[in-house]
Amino acid sequence: MRDLVQYSIVELAALYRARETTVREVVQAYLDTISAREPRIRAFLQVFSDTALDEAAKLDGKGYDGRALFGVPIAIKDNLCTRGIPTTCASKILEGYRPPYNATVIERLKAAGAVIIGKTNLDEFAMGSSCENSAFQVTRNPWNEAYAPGGSSGGSAAAVAAGMALAALGSDTGGSIRQPASLCGVVGLKGTYGRVSRYGLVAFASSLDQIGPFARDVRDCAAVMEAIAGHDERDATTIPEPSPDLRSDLEKGFDGLRVAVPADFEKWEMDEAVHGITVQTIEDLVKNGTADTGVCLPGMEVSIASYYILANAEASSNLARYDGVKYGLRSSSDSLIDMYERTRGDGFGEEVKRRILLGTYVLSSGYYDAYYAKAQQVKALICAQFGEVFKNYDLILLPTSPTPAFKLGERLDDPIAMYLSDIFTTPANIAGLPAVSVPAGVSPAGLPVGMQLIAGWRQEAKLLRGAYGLERMYRFRERFVRDSHEQRGRRAGG
Ligand code: GLN
Repeated sequence: MRDLVQYSIVELAALYRARETTVREVVQAYLDTISAREPRIRAFLQVFSDTALDEAAKLDGKGYDGRALFGVPIAIKDNLCTRGIPTTCASKILEGYRPPYNATVIERLKAAGAVIIGKTNLDEFAMGSSCENSAFQVTRNPWNEAYAPGGSSGGSAAAVAAGMALAALGSDTGGSIRQPASLCGVVGLKGTYGRVSRYGLVAFASSLDQIGPFARDVRDCAAVMEAIAGHDERDATTIPEPSPDLRSDLEKGFDGLRVAVPADFEKWEMDEAVHGITVQTIEDLVKNGTADTGVCLPGMEVSIASYYILANAEASSNLARYDGVKYGLRSSSDSLIDMYERTRGDGFGEEVKRRILLGTYVLSSGYYDAYYAKAQQVKALICAQFGEVFKNYDLILLPTSPTPAFKLGERLDDPIAMYLSDIFTTPANIAGLPAVSVPAGVSPAGLPVGMQLIAGWRQEAKLLRGAYGLERMYRFRERFVRDSHEQRGRRAGG
């Protein structure tokens, strides 16, 4: 019996076209995996068994029509609005909230033929790096259940890694797609700021937030990105051009591309396994003339500090709308002011409160110039430095996360340690650049390690060519994922 959850998007399309399987069978296979694994992994806040099967039956009724994501089961981070369906942001404050509209990305996935299989867990309002800030449940890393899946899109990453969805959407404000992708051994992509419409994404830090895909390999990731990207008149910050072609040139890999490696990457603290894989990658790329070490990227150290000022400042403003009047939870009280205070006191978790306080502080008169204005200046410098590097190079190589997955609970009492998870991911958000994490290897403890590429503004096609080049170098799925496509192919081929 074929294991239907093993097929990639391209392979599935071939099966559908040849009528060798049905969307119902595929969706059922994913639901079966969810029944088997979800009780321990807890990646989903909701699973849409019935509606997904209904949708599958409809697609089967019409037959394969060549749409890019026809019959592809996809999981959605629960900070993306789904019409009539609870959208919680893993927060008590949105209790009972059902958006009256779909996010643009949901509409686009549906238009491409995808089947939405469930909504995934996250750190409350996407604030965190481990999924432990969810008000509802802790998601476990499918590679080892004692470990965190990363965050904030940890549910989406875990769902894809555990074979509970073929692809997923997450959001990335400071690394929340790439870091959990790295920790769960899947591909995670954040496009250029403005590449994907944020309409219907519950805002955390609007100048940094971007929606993007998780998938098992680079080609699948590109297919989902093509489906969701492109100008949207409902989000004025979207780039006014159609979704780019990200797949035609993938096979070219690194051909003709120049990769910059920051000169001082050695000085940043990182786990030995991450260090080892990074050094090996650099050596391999230098050997074939692709990479150049010694490129100056001096903004790295300050990016994390400025990120936590800018992100929290915007969050404190964006989250002001949860006042018990318009959405979700309302705590009872005799007076209006008291009602606001109780609702926000009861509804927000500790980390969200910490960020609102920090954000309000850095924006307050007397501190604004020292913190917020300074962080904006640093942002301008970081953008300029990236601009210099991309005059001579196509891509920048960095680890995604300084460590593989950490144990659940390990960083809960130490927000600074948790924030430092984002040291390598925040620069791309600050500069609005596209970046991807590709699974590269496995630590001695058996946990995945991802490598990151960053590209220039609007250069997703080059970015994914590089990612594809890395994927071919690492052969991660073949080497480390049981029942990978190749192994299954060999078995089937006899
Ligand atoms: N971990 C980072 C934070 O807590 C990034 C979050 C994100 O990208 N949504 O802010």
